[in-house]
Amino acid sequence: MKIRVLTGAGISAESGIPTFRGKDGLWNKYDPAELATPEAFEQNPKLVWEWYDWRRQLIAKAQPNEGHRIVAKMEELFSDFWLITQNVDGLHQRAGSKKVIELHGNIWKVRCLNCGAEYYEYTTPLPEIPPKCRECSGLLRPGVVWFGESLPVDALSKAYELSQNADVFIVVGTSALVYPAAELPLIAKREGAKLIEVNPEETPITPYADYSLREKAGEGLRKVTEML
Ligand SMILES: [Zn+2]
Repeated sequence: MKIRVLTGAGISAESGIPTFRGKDGLWNKYDPAELATPEAFEQNPKLVWEWYDWRRQLIAKAQPNEGHRIVAKMEELFSDFWLITQNVDGLHQRAGSKKVIELHGNIWKVRCLNCGAEYYEYTTPLPEIPPKCRECSGLLRPGVVWFGESLPVDALSKAYELSQNADVFIVVGTSALVYPAAELPLIAKREGAKLIEVNPEETPITPYADYSLREKAGEGLRKVTEML
């Protein structure tokens, strides 16, 4: 059975990862849509990196939750399994997932704007802000996709290919409002997959879902595994 799981911020919410939409006092005067952009970084790399350093510290303190663990377990149980995630926090990998397509990059990755080197940097807090490339001392940027940037081509084409070739497609904790998360489940469905949605709220995917579980990620995924 070919299983695909698409996850969004909802699965990490149970680990206490905020959505970074202005609730925390420290950064609430900033709009993420104004910090997570190439323009903001060009104007003030230090400010943008301070924000990412703060987010990285929160994520480092968080733990993967039951939802992450169930997804990792599915990978062990089903030989043709892939996870497609919009999350950048790396909690899926910490729970043991290996077959992961990251649509929006990874907050633990850095990329050098000078030499193009790309590597994982797990130190929190960062000793120097903005951080410098270990190869050439050039300016590093976070290895995530910013507003206004295109998604990584390899990840995107793999995600489409996997969605076209699925028996069961499970959407967890994403409002599925933005491209391509809005589109992948519908492609899977059109190509014959059973579509399962886990979300406390209705989403634009709900009318197309064969099964829709109005649950948080952990509880909903536990029920899904009983169905498979
Ligand atoms: Zn470099």
